[in-house]
Amino acid sequence: MLEKVRCNLCGADDTAPVMEIDGFHIVRCRQCGLIYVNPRYLEDALHEIYTELYYDHDGLTNGLEFYGYDDYLRDEENIKITFAKRLKTIERYAHQGRLLDVGCATGFFLDLARSGGWDVVGTEVSEFGARYARERFRLDVRLGTLKDLHFDDQAFDVVTVWDVIEHVLDPMGELQEIGRILRDGGLLSIITPDAGSLVARLLGRRWEEFRRVREHVYFFSKRSLTEMLRKVGFEILKTESADKVFYLGPAVRRLKYYTWDGALTNTAARCVYRLGLDKIRININPFSKIAVYARKQG
Ligand SMILES: [Zn+2]
Repeated sequence: MLEKVRCNLCGADDTAPVMEIDGFHIVRCRQCGLIYVNPRYLEDALHEIYTELYYDHDGLTNGLEFYGYDDYLRDEENIKITFAKRLKTIERYAHQGRLLDVGCATGFFLDLARSGGWDVVGTEVSEFGARYARERFRLDVRLGTLKDLHFDDQAFDVVTVWDVIEHVLDPMGELQEIGRILRDGGLLSIITPDAGSLVARLLGRRWEEFRRVREHVYFFSKRSLTEMLRKVGFEILKTESADKVFYLGPAVRRLKYYTWDGALTNTAARCVYRLGLDKIRININPFSKIAVYARKQG
């Protein structure tokens, strides 16, 4: 079942086609520029993919265009290095206190933040992710969407929403809800793909984030995201491009999704593994993810 929707940012029903991928239509609002999938799945159908397979499946495609992770759990150390750096940025703007991670997946960030002295809670729509976080790390992770969980007013000092807002059916409603549960002056950290980036423009329909149409329903630019945040009462403190730590092996293997010559990238990947270079850590910043730090105005 598909539903047709109006622009989440400005309410208009006036779009121009951007591209079609895997049967999904990606459109741009002619009034405000927000890019989104329309029509799209209802929430239950959208959430069906967040099983264990979402975190670990071969080749990222599984018959669909891109979705999920090829091995999220094995990548724990790299993910935590990336998250530790983000936590440092958060701590420049906020004193330690109560932190909520919306869409916390397997709890890697919450585990890290708790070790650093934060009092942490997570939400997750994936049963697999929530169970893993509870069993492995004994974390307080609530299963469900943020709007269904009804946290108290001003319950948190910091809310993080990393690689999540592009999956949410009503992002403006989600940000409003975050504004309600954050204390006045509290900090929000958002990371999402940057559809206005050079990489997105150059790659077009080959850009991985567009190809994730089975899970992504919104594609923000710096402009559309900061405009939405201001509309719901946040002051923007800092925007930057988010980087991420990878192992060289999987990073080279993934190049095949971006080139036409799969044989060449397969050969390059085989060389990297044979030479034992696959576990070398590299920090990649393709300037195609936005990180925004914003303060709730009280
Ligand atoms: Zn619009």
